[in-house]
Amino acid sequence: MADDKLQEYQCPNCGGPLEFHGDVQKMVCVYCDAQFEMSQFNQNSPKVGDEQPTHWEQAQGQQLEAGAAGMKEFQCNACGAVMVSDGQVGATECPYCGNPAILESTFEGINLPDGIIPFVKSKQEAQDAMSGYYSGKKLLPNNFISDNRVEKIQGVYVPFWLFDCDVNGSAFYRAENRRTYSKGEERWEEIKEYAVSRSAVMRYEKVPADGSKEMKDEYMDSLEPYDFSKIIPYQPAYFSGYLANKYDESADDVKERVNRRIKNTSEQQIRDTVRGYDSVRTESSDIRINSGKIRYCMLPVWMLTTRWNGANYTFAMNGQTGKVTGDLPVDNGKATRMFLLTSVIALAILEALAYFIFCQDEISIFALIGAAVIALIIGGVTVSSAKASMVSHLKTEAKEFLVKDSFRLTAQNDRHIDTRHRKISGGN
Ligand SMILES: [Zn+2]
Ligand SMILES: [Zn+2]
Repeated sequence: MADDKLQEYQCPNCGGPLEFHGDVQKMVCVYCDAQFEMSQFNQNSPKVGDEQPTHWEQAQGQQLEAGAAGMKEFQCNACGAVMVSDGQVGATECPYCGNPAILESTFEGINLPDGIIPFVKSKQEAQDAMSGYYSGKKLLPNNFISDNRVEKIQGVYVPFWLFDCDVNGSAFYRAENRRTYSKGEERWEEIKEYAVSRSAVMRYEKVPADGSKEMKDEYMDSLEPYDFSKIIPYQPAYFSGYLANKYDESADDVKERVNRRIKNTSEQQIRDTVRGYDSVRTESSDIRINSGKIRYCMLPVWMLTTRWNGANYTFAMNGQTGKVTGDLPVDNGKATRMFLLTSVIALAILEALAYFIFCQDEISIFALIGAAVIALIIGGVTVSSAKASMVSHLKTEAKEFLVKDSFRLTAQNDRHIDTRHRKISGGN
């Protein structure tokens, strides 16, 4: 059988994971049938899962120099966010952390974005969306939000890095098909095993990652998608009336997160081409990112952060599409009441059903306990789904940025390697 330590070596022919076969004292590739002498492999031979370098290139953008006329700079001394405006608008409180004492400082210059998506949604639309967002939440504490908070919502251009790249990926799988058959009185199962390999190319465009430490990645991911076909070259007029957040996370800082999203989606896309099997197990995969390009952009977000019971809760709206997100505090008293109420109603319905189905006056104790357990589960599920609607979620894939029709299989091989038979029942 395969030796655990040696199994991780890669086949020099096809890249598949190799196994050591004791009977022939050789490394064997089940994907292309090649055999290799042990002496061919040493410490430096490529191993499955070795990290491949990914290459990203970044354009050098324009700068607005320190001291430019009319420009103002604000720094939040609580969270460190630095924002710039053209003087038409001041910052009354920090949109990221809700700190009300935000100070004007000397304008130190700003790197101008290569492109910008201008605001489409007005302040009034943002305020309406915010009121609507809060009103639908059953577990929100009553005194959390007051009308005058809604006034304070601010339009912020959030700095963004957009990643374009080509991907070459390959993956190796073990797949099985099972069927049962009769042999006289006996039932048997036939298991056919296959070694499956796939290689594919695909392209991603404008995979976004924000360049702001203060902007939580979950919020930005929840606000996606932006319509990036509407990106236009930066012009100073677009900043007018809004705050522009200076980036404090470089493209280098966010690269790993983007790589991971692209890798996850690429693996899934390739996996989806393995069809016609009862079960498929991934043995190894190798995703390489080529000719990567990074651009610096600014995206519009309406934002407001409220401090409540010692924690920050941010409401954010996509300034282009109107999509909203946010974290909201959960009122534990309300959650408990919702749990009890849902469970009691579910129990009453279940008992009534049991009564009519069995048409008897005395329902057994087991039916009672069973119904009670089901009722508690229904109550628990109701509360946790209400809670889930109150937090934003971090994205781990990049499917919507996969360029349509760019996915192409460059190699595929489905190889039958073994058939086993197993008696299920019957006979002696
Ligand atoms: Zn091979
Ligand atoms: Zn702040």
